[in-house]
Amino acid sequence: VSAVEAAREHLEQIEAVDGSLHAFLATDPEASLAAARSIDERRAAGEELGELAGVPLAIKDVLVTTDMPATSGSRILEGYRSPYDATSVAKARAAGLVNIGKTNMDEFAMGSSTENSAYGPTRNQWAGDRVPGGSGGGSAVAVGAFEAPLALGSDTGGSIRQPAALTGTVGAKPTYGGVSRYGAIALASSLDQIGPVARTVLDTALLHDVIAGHDHHDSTSLDFAWPSMAQAARGGADPGTLKGLRVGVVKQLMIDGVQPGVKASFEASLALLEAQGAEIVEIDAPHFEYAVAAYYLILPAEASSNLAKYDSVRFGLRVTPEGGGTVETVMSDTRAAGFGAEVKRRIILGTYALSAGYYDAYYGSAQKVRTLIQRDFAQAFQQVDVIASPTAPTTAWCLGEHSGDPMQDYLNDATTIPANLAGIPGLSLPIGLAAEDGLPVGLQLMAPAYEDARLYRAGAAIE
Ligand code: GLN
Repeated sequence: VSAVEAAREHLEQIEAVDGSLHAFLATDPEASLAAARSIDERRAAGEELGELAGVPLAIKDVLVTTDMPATSGSRILEGYRSPYDATSVAKARAAGLVNIGKTNMDEFAMGSSTENSAYGPTRNQWAGDRVPGGSGGGSAVAVGAFEAPLALGSDTGGSIRQPAALTGTVGAKPTYGGVSRYGAIALASSLDQIGPVARTVLDTALLHDVIAGHDHHDSTSLDFAWPSMAQAARGGADPGTLKGLRVGVVKQLMIDGVQPGVKASFEASLALLEAQGAEIVEIDAPHFEYAVAAYYLILPAEASSNLAKYDSVRFGLRVTPEGGGTVETVMSDTRAAGFGAEVKRRIILGTYALSAGYYDAYYGSAQKVRTLIQRDFAQAFQQVDVIASPTAPTTAWCLGEHSGDPMQDYLNDATTIPANLAGIPGLSLPIGLAAEDGLPVGLQLMAPAYEDARLYRAGAAIE
């Protein structure tokens, strides 16, 4: 098929299903078709284009692009348009991918259900009364509902992997620094990572290869010659590829709240790994039980600082009180109207944790816990090559089920957060349906930093 045909068919699918799913915040059919047309013209002129040239790409609204708005799911950025492309987007364009639309997300990527979007929730394509996970529920559903074959997401505490698990799609959080964060609207800069979403491990790997690599615009970007993830994924099909692979199961990640059907699917996938020659090793990571607590101090602290720039002057919304107001009242009215409840909660938590009298007790302690979790991983990876866990302790819950109780959302992140605190890569792939509700379950694989390719090989082998 031509790029134009691919774009047109996906735009038709969006037209057909997105009224009820609401995976997209913005589309611009003319812009998408124009981009597709230019790919077809370049191909017709004999230009050698990459494997993904002409493939439609959905882009989480946390990434800025010149051709469509970027809101990060917030009212405060309503109407904002970027003068430049995020590096991951620029790389995707250079590879010939076609922006098919911007996807819905929890406001500023704070959430686990996409219900915190200021523009209304996204619905899970498996069951319309269920959440798709979050914060990247839009990208996961876009891919899962065939509105786009590929999508970009961001993962600060699980926002690529957990929605992938809850929607039966594949998502990867690369090694911290593996993909540039330039042009990604920052949530917590020491945790944020951009990554790919797709329907198969190989497709995820192909997109990973396109967006990875050093970028001088991002000071934490790694200057490293990444091996091909696609080649690793293709290697997953080789017989005996898992022979001798040591797979760790962390006791502390099999938390009490793991749903029976999730546990059963997870155990079945361990058996699958074993049947292919992998060795399952139980490991201990004593500090993982403090990961959620540490994360929900570090993240709000960094977020409160990153969100200080929404001051009514530089970006988006401006609310002027009657009679004109002062600099202070314009700023406070704008922030009061522009930010949702979860964002305000985290700004207050973050500024509190960073304040002079409490800094050591909260932020300082959380950073120490972060170091201990990194050490737990380092020790674990002396015994095993990869770590496996359920991506999320439960399958998709009902819309509104957690409302008024943010702790329930926070606890759902217990399995994904440790990888962000340590900067290591994680991959989520579907491993079946839970017996009790028939909803998809995800397997999470984690590897040491720089070893993303290991995840694609192992994931593809048992997919
Ligand atoms: N659920 C987590 C949070 O609310 C994950 C966020 C993310 O990865 N962007 O912080």
